[in-house]
Amino acid sequence: MKYYSTNGNAAHATLHEAVVKGLASDKGLFMPQVIKPLPQSFYDEIENLSFQEIAYRVADAFFGEDVPADTLKQIVYDTLSFDVPAVKVKENIYSLELFHGPTLAFKDVGARFMARLLGYFIRQEGNEQVNVLVATSGDTGSAVANGFLGVEGIHVYVLYPKGKVSPIQECQFTTLGQNITALEIDGVFDDCQALVKNAFMDADLNQHMKLTSANSINVARFLPQAFYYFYAYAQLKKLGKADQMVVCVPSGNFGNICSALFGKRMGLPVKRFIAANNANDIFFNYLKTGDYNPKPSVQTIANAMDVGDPSNFARIYDLYGKDHAAICADISGATYSDEQIAESMRQCLAETGYVCDPHGACGYRALSEGLQEGEVGVFLETAHPAKFKGVVDGILGSDIEIPAKLQAFMKGTKQSVELPKDFESFKAYLMKQ
Ligand SMILES: *Cc1c(COP(=O)(O)O)cnc(C)c1O
Repeated sequence: MKYYSTNGNAAHATLHEAVVKGLASDKGLFMPQVIKPLPQSFYDEIENLSFQEIAYRVADAFFGEDVPADTLKQIVYDTLSFDVPAVKVKENIYSLELFHGPTLAFKDVGARFMARLLGYFIRQEGNEQVNVLVATSGDTGSAVANGFLGVEGIHVYVLYPKGKVSPIQECQFTTLGQNITALEIDGVFDDCQALVKNAFMDADLNQHMKLTSANSINVARFLPQAFYYFYAYAQLKKLGKADQMVVCVPSGNFGNICSALFGKRMGLPVKRFIAANNANDIFFNYLKTGDYNPKPSVQTIANAMDVGDPSNFARIYDLYGKDHAAICADISGATYSDEQIAESMRQCLAETGYVCDPHGACGYRALSEGLQEGEVGVFLETAHPAKFKGVVDGILGSDIEIPAKLQAFMKGTKQSVELPKDFESFKAYLMKQ
């Protein structure tokens, strides 16, 4: 399969090139040239298949031409060693819990899949070490660090702003050791991101070491998220609830919902989608007006969705042939203030007994408000509420239990390298590695 750039000014890439480069040379995002529909027989029996079996069929449609079947199967099975249950919250509303993986958030699947696929390509090439640089404000760093942990031929540098990530988040990427190095930058998240961007453009560094990124624009990270939606459908179908399925995705960079839209192109019977946003309402406004106006992000209590210029908008726009009406026909939007998010969390708990995290709460609210007669809604619960314990307990007056998996991280010893925020110091450090 070849991948083209959404900007249309780059040579088509192989999967291997697209995964290693991340971004096309014209700064566009890679798109597969063909999206293969899955046969009706697959949908007819989907409720009898396991999550892994379903995911392998989906992965085969995307990557089967470029990765040998046994290797791909192993990558999929290895990635999905945990369940993604659809839990009934109230009549006709289900929470698809994406937080049973190693770092209790949905980014685990994309990160693990990408690590294994990149590891395969590195072995093919004769094992030259690849170095992944990732800037994080919290969640991405933990998913990438854990996803890549122990993968041969890859070293990961996680850059994070000193004192600006929660202790629970910090311990998930600073206590791992092995091929994971945490770089504690004396600055803010934007400084970390600028360091990574500059590193990719620096000729000396690129000559010294092979660098790549692992952010959500990478095809190997965002496409595997489609697995979730097929499995959600299978679970609802088993319950006889899948005829008018509405999928609601709490969205930031729009990678997750974009993979779902690919799923629909492959024939997955989703009636419509809702993109739930916090106060960062760029996509919401696009749906309303047809104009895409990025703006600086605003800080909210659903902070993994604080994105002012969602990267994957370019993919959605391309997927629908730049047609605003076609996009609106499949996707509607919602935007909520922090007060509304908090109110929804309290209301959900009071009415149903279910604890939403601030991200999932946006999804729950959008379904509660927008579901029509006959529809059944699934919202994605993108992270375990304990990952945002401070915020959640503050809102709900609770003392939610920290799952054993998170506690285990907290028992580890923090190892990090402290660096100032100027590029020369960062470069000097990398040149010594
Ligand atoms: C990353 C993230 C999101 C947003 O996902 P996108 O794919 O960027 O839209 C939502 N919730 C949580 C908890 C996240 O970590």
